[in-house]
Amino acid sequence: MLRAVPRTTKLTPKTAKPAKRTKASPAQSTVAREDYLECILQLIQSKGLARAVDIATTLDIAQPSVTAMTQRLAAEGLLTYEKYRGITLTTEGEKLASAIIQRHQILTRLLRHFGLDEATIYRDVEGMEHHISRKTLDAFDALTAELDRSPALVTRLREAMA
Ligand code: CA
Repeated sequence: MLRAVPRTTKLTPKTAKPAKRTKASPAQSTVAREDYLECILQLIQSKGLARAVDIATTLDIAQPSVTAMTQRLAAEGLLTYEKYRGITLTTEGEKLASAIIQRHQILTRLLRHFGLDEATIYRDVEGMEHHISRKTLDAFDALTAELDRSPALVTRLREAMA
C-alpha cells in the first residue's frame, strides 16, 4: 500500500545492491512507465483492482519504486489512488494502457505465426514493444492479418525456419 516510509527505517547503505531493474538506457523510464500502466490495467481487468503490492510482485520491483511511479503518473493525470480502492486509471490513463496492451497483442500475434515457443515470444515482445514506432506497428498489424489469411504462407515460413 502507499504509505510514507517510517522515519525509523534504516538508511540504505551506499553499498546496497541497486534496484532490480538496472539496465541503463535513455528509454528506461518509458519502459517502466509503459509496463506499469499495462500492469495496472491487467490487474484491474483480472482482479477488479490494482494494489501496489500486486504491482510490485508482478513487475518484480520494490514497493518504494511502485509508490514513486504511482505518484508520478497521478501527477500526470493518468491514475488516481484511494486507500481502499487501490489504483484506478483515469480515462486518459486507460486509453494509454489499452494502446500498450494492444501493441503487445499485435506483436504476440505476429510472432506466433512463426511457431516460436510462448516464453520466447513473451520475452521478445517485452523487449520490442517499447521501441517500435506506430508506423512499423501498423505494418506488422497488416502483415499479421495477411498471415492470418494465408496458412500456406505460414507453412512455408515455418518450413524455411526449420
Ligand atoms: Ca510490457
